[in-house]
Amino acid sequence: MYSGSYDMPKCNACGRDVHPGEISENFSCPKCKSARIWRCEGCKGKSKEYKCPACGHKGK
Ligand SMILES: [Zn+2]
Ligand SMILES: [Zn+2]
Repeated sequence: MYSGSYDMPKCNACGRDVHPGEISENFSCPKCKSARIWRCEGCKGKSKEYKCPACGHKGK
């Protein structure tokens, strides 16, 4: 996990900050496998479309 200060991730579906302790999900991009995709509480339940910041892949 992270050491030092917590770097707040951004939801890749809606763009807002994902707060620690929130029921979020994160996984590596299924296409490029290098970027980490985050989805916030709200977007996770609705399976909103995300966009990979590295390769531009879109998925749900
Ligand atoms: Zn979101
Ligand atoms: Zn990607």
